[in-house]
Amino acid sequence: MSTTTPSAISVQTIIGLEIHVQLATCSKLFCGCSTRYGQPPNTQTCPICQGLPGTLPVINSQAIDLAMDVGLALEMELVSGCRWDRKHYFYPDLPKGYQTSQFDLPITRKGRLEFRDPTNAETICSVRINRAHLEEDAGKSLHGEGVDGGTWIDLNRTGTPLLEIVTEPDLRSAQQAKAFLQQLRTILLYIGVSDCNMQEGSMRVDANVNLRIDNSNETVATPIVEIKNLNSFRNVERAIEFERDRQLQHWRATGERMGQRPKQTRGWDADREITTVQREKEEAADYRYFPCPDLPPVVLSVEQIAERRGKLPRLPQQWKSDLIRVWKLSDYDASVIVEQGRDMAEYFEIVARISQDGKRSANWITQEIMRLLNEQQRAITQFPISAQQMGELVAAVANNELDHARAREIFALWLEQPLSLGEAKQRLGIASISSDEVEQLVADIVAQHAAAIDDYRQGKKQALGPLIAQAKKLNPNVSPAKFREALLRVVEG
Ligand SMILES: [Zn+2]
Repeated sequence: MSTTTPSAISVQTIIGLEIHVQLATCSKLFCGCSTRYGQPPNTQTCPICQGLPGTLPVINSQAIDLAMDVGLALEMELVSGCRWDRKHYFYPDLPKGYQTSQFDLPITRKGRLEFRDPTNAETICSVRINRAHLEEDAGKSLHGEGVDGGTWIDLNRTGTPLLEIVTEPDLRSAQQAKAFLQQLRTILLYIGVSDCNMQEGSMRVDANVNLRIDNSNETVATPIVEIKNLNSFRNVERAIEFERDRQLQHWRATGERMGQRPKQTRGWDADREITTVQREKEEAADYRYFPCPDLPPVVLSVEQIAERRGKLPRLPQQWKSDLIRVWKLSDYDASVIVEQGRDMAEYFEIVARISQDGKRSANWITQEIMRLLNEQQRAITQFPISAQQMGELVAAVANNELDHARAREIFALWLEQPLSLGEAKQRLGIASISSDEVEQLVADIVAQHAAAIDDYRQGKKQALGPLIAQAKKLNPNVSPAKFREALLRVVEG
């Protein structure tokens, strides 16, 4: 009798992301109101962003420049003549009744971003970017904060410029999605287009997730679900993992596949760690898109694009290869420094330039400084020791003027007090020691340790170790390297 075993299935998670990034402009997309975060409600509005009739929007050229920078950094095509469209919603915090966005002609499209696969370091993932378009943000509903616990509307955020970056569905795991976002965030921070502060909503992520299931005889796809407004990388990862399991279970129970229901929008409940249904997704037609008659298309000239390209700051990848090439850092050290952000990379570069010792500079930064910053949850810009000071300290060690132990004492003192290198040495009683003094010290040690010297001469090389330690004890200012050199001259000479 034959038995049938349940056939094995293989399941692939298909993920595409939409990332809303708030551009770091001083003023809003179509009016002069400030975009500063955390101001009292409705103190940063005007007739244009309140959507009053009879007003006309004016395009903020800084927002165009920053959108171009993103396009250039992600190797995208910049679209001259990109248009503005109205996307209609009825939300209390959208005073115009529509959002000014870009529909079929976004400012930039067709790019890609590469990153290392977190689950397999040998693999470089390449994700295609479909498009990035400009749009204005909505206001904020303050639920339960009005009189009688009603809802109040704050329009400070209304009209703030956003760039929505849309990927193709090229990601295959929650870990990949997280790594992609980290890489994207690093790039955006390096080129300075956004502060990418997820807690303040400067970077928000929607994830489109479905499954491709290979059954023994056919391949099926589950309906696409869009998880909205994920505000941390951790939430992105958890929500995708949850959704993968939920869709697989749902498919096993119902067999439902793509096309049998409209795209669904779900929200992530971070407390319960589940996604919940928000609405069946509108198709594009429901938004009644049409070109905005108030705004002209944005023309980007060849000269303008060339100028932006010329001004584009170094990208993380370029920084990394520069650190490896110029300062001979390992791939690992260069990555660790670059991933900390542009301020850290610049700090390193100054230290290395002054000390002319890349490897030592990297060691101090990755081992001492990053550990302290991590403990204190501080940024390198808040670190009490300047890059110039660090450069002088590393140079003194590299030139054998200071040994590592004494350099650490100075470093510790600098954490407490802003002193010059000379002042710090004086305070710690670190004096430079003459070669005569070193030779005298050698003579004393040789006289006292005849047995150890004999051992060394008979091939016991490690016999000198205790002597160097002894010298250091007698005079803490002596450099072990210089002492060793002088000792060998006597012992071997
Ligand atoms: Zn305004």
